[in-house]
Parts: sequence; structure tokens; C-alpha cells
Amino acid sequence: MTTPTIVGHHDALFRLSLSGDWDDFLKGSEDGQVDLQRAREANVSASFFACWPESTDDGDEAYPSAIEVEDAVTSTRAMVEILLDLESASEGSLQIVRSLDGLRECLSGDCHGAVLHFEGAEALGENLEYLDSWYEQGLRSLGIVWSRPNAFGHGVPFLFPSTPDTGPGLTSRGLELVKACNSLGIMLDVSHLNEAGFWDLEALTDAPIVATHSNAHALCPASRNLTDDQLRAIAESGGLVGINFSCSDLRSDGEEDPDTSMGLVLEQFDYVAGLIGVDHVALGTDLDGA
Ligand code: ZN
Repeated sequence: MTTPTIVGHHDALFRLSLSGDWDDFLKGSEDGQVDLQRAREANVSASFFACWPESTDDGDEAYPSAIEVEDAVTSTRAMVEILLDLESASEGSLQIVRSLDGLRECLSGDCHGAVLHFEGAEALGENLEYLDSWYEQGLRSLGIVWSRPNAFGHGVPFLFPSTPDTGPGLTSRGLELVKACNSLGIMLDVSHLNEAGFWDLEALTDAPIVATHSNAHALCPASRNLTDDQLRAIAESGGLVGINFSCSDLRSDGEEDPDTSMGLVLEQFDYVAGLIGVDHVALGTDLDGA
């Protein structure tokens, strides 16, 4: 018997939006790191499809500037359309998951469940004017920020070594967003959120907290990784930490070196499971994103 697996974060939609060859995702190809064929071979029955509106700022690599809502809406719409096209061209082998029953169906059947995730809430509009419409289209998981500021909070800059405590917490709009996601049933992802924002979210949310792609700071002191206190708080909420395969978030020297042992991934699993229990550790990966 095989156990169905869920991958907690990948950026295939961004890759496909750049290449334009989105049907490669269904047929399988040498490009990228994730497609439907390889998911099937690896017994991955569902995954979180991130929509990441690209930062155009090349001034500060560690902390790009905020992006315009209009630009975020345009690029997010393009990525969501790719997912909708994939779903209809797949003849049932890929389904956008909108409910727990829908997810269970994919885990026990042949279709791959796609959970729509936004990495940064810019496309919701500063007054959440587009939230309901994105929800209807399938949005079920949200990172309030990527590593840049927006109307809702402040992402954590890409620093090494650094604690995740790099700036102010959620704005009043960010707090409203937490409540709105709780009431709609949209999962909140704390990867890329700075520590002050993390604790603001933790104090307010009534749902399990999830880090879709973050590692233990104790093993790799990157600003993107989570302190032991944050890991414990996630477990106490009933949430999950998805281990990230990004080399610079695994290596103790923080280098972006592809010649990195998979053993470091296993060490992350061991460490987080040892600290907060195996029920709170998951596969994040960040395939196609790192
Ligand atoms: Zn990310």
C-alpha cells in the first residue's frame, strides 16, 4: 500500500507563465521540477499551486519594493487562467480542490488535486475588494506577504545570517485579512512573513497556522526560517511546517549552492519532528521556485 502525498508549495504556474508551454505540465517534459507525470510517479496526489506576482524591482535583491495592485491582479489572473486551462485540458486528471471532500477524492482516486495558493495578498486589493471573487475561482491558501511590503504587512527580507525579526507587524488591514480568511476558510501561510507579523497572526487566527515552505532556524540561520518558539506555536495551533528544499534555507552557510546534500532535508525533518512532533511536519519543497 502506498500513502498519498501532498506537496505544500510549488511555483509551476509561475514557470509556465514564463514559458507559455503549459501543456507540458500535463504531458511531462524535461523542463522545470514538477509536472503531472512526475507527480504521478512520486505518488503525489495533490499540491499547492502558488501564484506569485513577480517583483520588478531590481534595486534591492534582499527586499524588493511593494508592487502595484493592478500589476498583481494582471499577473495573478494569467496564472489562475493557466490552472483553469490545465484543469479543462486534463480530462479529469487534474482538479482544482475547493473543499475537503474534493481533496479526499483526489487522495483516494486518480486525479491530482490542485490547491490554489497566492504568495502575497496584493491581488486581493487593498480593501479586499477582489477577495470573494478569487475565493469563487478557487483560492484556498494565502501567504499574506511575500518578501516585500504590502498593504497588509511586511515580508521578511532575504538575509543571512539573521533572525526573522526584521520589522513591524501586520497593519490594521492585515488584521482584517486574517479575520476574513478565517471566516471564508482560506488557509493562512506564514512563510515569508516577518516575526512580528507572525505573532500578530498567531494571536488573532482561529485556524491552524501553516508554513508552506520554511525550515528550522536552529539548523540554518536564514531570516526566512522559523525559530523554535515559532515552530512550537505552529504545532500548538494544530498546524504544519512544510520543509523547504531551497539550498540557501538548508545550508548552515546559507549558500545558494546546488551541490547540496539531500541529507540536509532529512536533518530538517528530524529536527522539526523531534521538536514539535511528526504530525506537524510536511513536505513543502518550493519546487520550481528555488
Ligand atoms: Zn516562497
